[in-house]
Amino acid sequence: MAVLNILKLGHPTLVKKAVPIEVIDDGVRRLAKDMIETMHAAPGLGLSAPQVDVSRRLITVDLSVGEKEGETFAIVNPEIFEQEGKVIRDEGCLSVPEVFEKVARPQKVKVKGLDLDGRELIIEAADLLARVLCHEIDHLNGKLFIEWLSPLKRNLIKKRFKRQAEKKSRS
Ligand SMILES: [Zn+2]
Repeated sequence: MAVLNILKLGHPTLVKKAVPIEVIDDGVRRLAKDMIETMHAAPGLGLSAPQVDVSRRLITVDLSVGEKEGETFAIVNPEIFEQEGKVIRDEGCLSVPEVFEKVARPQKVKVKGLDLDGRELIIEAADLLARVLCHEIDHLNGKLFIEWLSPLKRNLIKKRFKRQAEKKSRS
């Protein structure tokens, strides 16, 4: 297993629509394991494959951030097929570090996809889990959470990250 590098705002893979996974092979299972290790090390509640520069439809989630066993799961090709309600809460992203902004998300979602053995999964989620699932599935569609903010706020954040990246490449 390995801790992978998490891409930051401004990287082109983060704004690309990820492709479905056709075959769940050892490569996909290894990627999921590495993503889980990366998510726990970060630490974060969820991670999507595009954030580690793999443009494929795979997410990992663990609300306990590695504290509790059996809380970690991976979903291949996740899709929201039902949603209900609305909750506005602060949200952050490992690809946009140190930025926390209020985002409206459904209070409940139903998500379907496959587990790492190719079995069909249906997850009914509420509150924080619903938020994390929506956030990670957005990543698969090339959408960062800052896209939900006002254009003014979004552009300020983008500019700040651009300046930081430029500083880094100069030093
Ligand atoms: Zn994120």
